[in-house]
Order: sequence, then C-alpha cells, then structure tokens
Amino acid sequence: AYRADEEYDYLFKVVLIGDAGVGKTNLLSRFARDEFSFETKSTIGVEFATRTIHVDGKLIKAQIWDTAGQGALVVFDLSRRVTFENTARWLQELRSHTDPNIVVMLVGNKADLRHIRAVSVEEAQAFARKEKAFFTETSALESINVADAFTGVLTQIYHVVG
Ligand code: GDP
Repeated sequence: AYRADEEYDYLFKVVLIGDAGVGKTNLLSRFARDEFSFETKSTIGVEFATRTIHVDGKLIKAQIWDTAGQGALVVFDLSRRVTFENTARWLQELRSHTDPNIVVMLVGNKADLRHIRAVSVEEAQAFARKEKAFFTETSALESINVADAFTGVLTQIYHVVG
C-alpha cells in the first residue's frame, strides 16, 4: 500500500564517525540522495540527512547525524592504514559518551582503490569481531554496499528495540 513520505513506524538516529577524509560525507550523500562529490569540504556544524527503508514490513526512518545516535558507522579509509588504527579510539570515544551497547558497523570505505589497499578484509573482520561490531566494505564513489551498511545498522537497532 502507498504511504506518504512522512509516515514511518520507527525513527532511529545513526551517527557517522571516523577520521577526516575517510568519506563520511559522501557515504551519507550517496545513501540519502545518491550523490557523490570529488571535493572535500569539512563538515561545519551539525548536518543530517534522512531516508526511509523497509525492514520486516515496517517503515524505518533513518536520521543520520554527524554526532550521537542509537547506532554508529565507524568509518575508515581502506587505503590509509592509520585511519583503520584510529578506529579503536573512535570506538572508545563512542562507547564512553553513548550507550555502551550502541550498534556499531565498522565501515572500510574507498573499496574501489583496490591497487592501494592497506588493510585486509581478514584483519578488519577480526578487529570488528573483537569489538562486537559488524563489518562491511563500501565505496561511495562506485556506490558499492552503501545502502547495505546503513540498512545493516538500522536492522540491528530495530532488532534491539523491537
Ligand atoms: P569525510 O571528511 O570523512 O566526510 O570525507 P569526504 O566524504 O569529504 O571524502 C573525502 C575525500 O575522499 C573526497 O575527496 C571524496 O571525493 C573522497 N571519497 C569519498 N568516498 C570515496 C570512495 O568511496 N572512493 C574514493 N576513491 N574516494 C572517495
């Protein structure tokens, strides 16, 4: 049945964190508006975008912020190892300032840069498992797995609260 845009069953807030330049802004614009930009501009102030998805026949509205929420995408750049190493600190920061049981998806972005990859899937997966986080690889540029990364977090939040 048709439902208006403003209608939804649940509203979940999800935060995007990680080092500068890993692709947070572009993952958000790819997910919410199917847009990508080659330019980097630092996010100033609070920015969020929304998109509604279906999970188990329910309409879930996602409000994706660059500050705190019920779920988090902790993003690193697969081609810059230091951004992966820094996710340990982002996770610590996240868990000390929010619900320690917050749903976390570790996201290795820029999967398209295959020739200069600096972190293996196995290593990232092992780290995610240790941190009780989910893991996925994305490319905001090639539009790979972006919606799945967000949908994965929203589905888990839904299973936790629902
Ligand atoms: P933020 O600082 O984490 O918000 O990162 P941005 O979204 O501003 O992206 C930083 C830079 O990386 C920009 O030049 C983007 O065009 C580029 N970028 C973002 N995502 C990807 C991706 O998936 N692949 C590639 N090759 N570049 C990307």
